Amino acid sequence: MPSNKSVSDAPIVQFRNCRILRNHKLQWEDLWVRQGKILNPEKLFFDEKGAADVQVDCQGRIIAPGFIDVQINGGFGVDFSQETDETGQGVCLVARSILPHGVTSFCPTIVTSPSSVYHKVLPQITVGDGGPGGAGVLGIHLEGPYISAEKKGAHPEHCLRSFSERGFSELLKTYGTLDGVIIVTVAPEMGRSGEVIKELVKRRICVSLGHSVANLSQAEDAVNSGASFITHLFNAMLPFHHRDPGIVGLLTSDRIPAGRTVYYGMIADGIHTNPAALRIAHRAHPSGTRTLAGSIATMDMCVRHFHEATGCTLEEALEAASLHPAQLLGLHHRKGTLDFGADADFIQLDDNLNVKATYIAGELVWSSWAI
Ligand code: ZN
Repeated sequence: MPSNKSVSDAPIVQFRNCRILRNHKLQWEDLWVRQGKILNPEKLFFDEKGAADVQVDCQGRIIAPGFIDVQINGGFGVDFSQETDETGQGVCLVARSILPHGVTSFCPTIVTSPSSVYHKVLPQITVGDGGPGGAGVLGIHLEGPYISAEKKGAHPEHCLRSFSERGFSELLKTYGTLDGVIIVTVAPEMGRSGEVIKELVKRRICVSLGHSVANLSQAEDAVNSGASFITHLFNAMLPFHHRDPGIVGLLTSDRIPAGRTVYYGMIADGIHTNPAALRIAHRAHPSGTRTLAGSIATMDMCVRHFHEATGCTLEEALEAASLHPAQLLGLHHRKGTLDFGADADFIQLDDNLNVKATYIAGELVWSSWAI
């Protein structure tokens, strides 16, 4: 679209015959899009006397905000934690490959690695850039190396680090830069984690708790220092114990400061997390703080499984993969929502939550039929 065109000259697309997710409800309403943004049709009719240039018949499907995956380690033959000069190409390849799964934005995630990997890879990842027609990059998620050896999972043990007496400057030296970083997962039981969390939060980086043997009070201290997320709840942390429920206890903690929300990611693939555990988390946290982490499983599959396993509404399942991660990252004014003025990143789904088409900035970038 030529940039010298005034806003009112840009083509207006009206998606009709659809149920759109707005105000936490699926409702029969049209979706209006212009210049990559969701448009307020009333303003269009009354102020500009405008009308649609293009109409799209959605055949009764659901239109929801595009999914946001805050933890993608790679996939499709790409590993973001590899020391290579080709990280940029890898990000673009993944950014296109996740479109059929309804993901329109993501956080490339680097697992525990030697310092040289961070120094090489981080400067190659550009926020916003998923390449032409690819999902957008919201920022980088650094999962480790400040995590527990006992809960390291697949992270290489010889690369694990502690904050030592240097605290935040140790972290800065390891990563080399925090430019483009949006989430850091740490184990809160590490010495000096409180001050490190505060420094990260001060820089508007979201701190997540995970790969940890923290008890509940250490987890609560971390939240009080500013941590706001739990990386793959239930996995790589102490199991829930009634005398000390560990990080899982944050779901019902009474030591969360007023007005604060602790979000959590879950690998809702039917393998990493038992459906009963999904239901416990879902019912314990009715205020709606779930986000879904696709991990090995694809995001659309996790949304379907979460919906079936918990018996939650379609709206809740869709918001867990769109609105909630956007809220976690403080981006909900433009992502994870179909509110007027938001980015027109959205998907068409059938009633069984199968993704049928994916749009980024109002452009059709993938569909189950040929574009
Ligand atoms: Zn992990």
